[in-house]
Amino acid sequence: MGKTQAQDRIRRKVLFCHPGLPQEPGSLAQSSAAQTGASATVSAVSDWTCPVCGRVFTTKTGLGVHKRRAHPEVANAEAAPNMVKRRWRDEELALMARTEARLLEETGRCTKADLLQSLSGFERTLEAIKGKRRCGEYKRLVQECRQKSRTNPTQEQPSA
Ligand SMILES: [Zn+2]
Repeated sequence: MGKTQAQDRIRRKVLFCHPGLPQEPGSLAQSSAAQTGASATVSAVSDWTCPVCGRVFTTKTGLGVHKRRAHPEVANAEAAPNMVKRRWRDEELALMARTEARLLEETGRCTKADLLQSLSGFERTLEAIKGKRRCGEYKRLVQECRQKSRTNPTQEQPSA
């Protein structure tokens, strides 16, 4: 009983002397900060799983260090995905043209942002899409797709 009162007095004194220093050892503020930190760590555990080998890490940094050490190729690709300028594959171009044709049919407009949104998982930047849309081959593909969808409506969109 007397002991608790003594601790309270010390706490109050510490807080009084250092109101702007919640990290002061032994202060109430510090123990609550430590608890917050602990619970945040617990909830984040499942977030840092190595996608390559499945090892689980308690911190993002820990996972990052592991990935750089154990899977350097993966770490590099993730660090700079936009630095890798891949050539456009025919399927990619065709898919983008089909999507543009569909958006134009459905909504009457198609911006590069609309395209990117419709092409989920499409690993191209807005700039890359913008550049491709200027290219003649792509424009021809879009025209082709639009003609096809007019003469032969696709099964993908059941019309009411
Ligand atoms: Zn791993």
